[in-house]
Amino acid sequence: MNITGAVLEEIGRDRPFAQSRPITVGALDLDAPQPGELLVRIEAAGVCHSDLSVVDGNRPRPVPMLLGHEAAGTIEKTGGDTPGFAVGDRVVMSFLPRCGQCAACATDGRLPCEAGTRANNAGVLMAGGSRLHRDGELVHHHLGVSGFATHTVVDHRSAVVVGRDVAPDVAAVLGCAVLTGGGAVINAGDVQPGQDVIVVGLGGVGMAALITAVSLGNGRVIGVDALQAKLDRARELGADDALTPGDAVARGIRAPLVIEAAGHPRAFETAFALTAPGGRTVTVGLPAPTATSTITPLTITAEARSIVGSYLGSAVPSRDIPRYAQLWREGKLPVEALISDRIALDDINAAMDRLAAGEAVRQIMTF
Ligand SMILES: [Zn+2]
Ligand SMILES: [Zn+2]
Repeated sequence: MNITGAVLEEIGRDRPFAQSRPITVGALDLDAPQPGELLVRIEAAGVCHSDLSVVDGNRPRPVPMLLGHEAAGTIEKTGGDTPGFAVGDRVVMSFLPRCGQCAACATDGRLPCEAGTRANNAGVLMAGGSRLHRDGELVHHHLGVSGFATHTVVDHRSAVVVGRDVAPDVAAVLGCAVLTGGGAVINAGDVQPGQDVIVVGLGGVGMAALITAVSLGNGRVIGVDALQAKLDRARELGADDALTPGDAVARGIRAPLVIEAAGHPRAFETAFALTAPGGRTVTVGLPAPTATSTITPLTITAEARSIVGSYLGSAVPSRDIPRYAQLWREGKLPVEALISDRIALDDINAAMDRLAAGEAVRQIMTF
């Protein structure tokens, strides 16, 4: 079938992307779903740092690639052999499919699935190959989702059914920002009743970690970011305090659980500095592969500290997404509050600029 989608043509073009235009929006051919796959009409998609990381070359992937990995939509057709999925279901896309059979899949979300990671690195679906073409040329899938398009075909293991009462924009954000940020607090952070939580870096993932910590009604929740607008937003969303990195360190505040969600080595150092003795620093951001940090190893030993890496919030999407949907339903998780801008598909290059400038929490496109 004929679809419209946003294709990254070349990696590493100069900013502003609104001028260099690394992404073109145009017509593509989408193959029918194979057995185990779903044809989904996309209803909403969020612009995430992991999209930007492909555009700017921090996470190189094969191009041309149809971007977008945080999305939700309605199943229009199945290729058969998709137990639990039916035409008309609303699904949240999950950008790390789990085969359920490899050693990594047995780690309760701590390690990403081996087969899923292989497929994602190659820009193909779990069954192999791409369902996307343009003038006879193959176009790669982004993390098995490719949600910046009117329709997509995904492996059923890249989708999780949610109730139709979950609005598409909320559903989309559950799939990456909430899954990652919430999981950093709940899964990797193993937050305990009454514990204070500090979140460093208040983009989509960090803000999701913050509202998750607030929703659990535990101890004090403190947001840390360099941008005043984000600190104001954190307070509106229930943070007990919101500080710049310099202020937070100067005041000597520390917490037993600190989440680093900025993906920057200085943010990691700040998060480490703000972690209390016996505490845990969870890093969920994705810095450039060449980035390095300086910390004092003695602190880890002398203060019995832990540093925990968490990819995708150490999530098992089929287990965790329904959990966040239920928290949202109960009014405890204001996912809508993460949405800072509404954009059109054609606006994607400028949206990448806003994200790179740190100006947006979540920019959502609807179809
Ligand atoms: Zn993402
Ligand atoms: Zn697996």
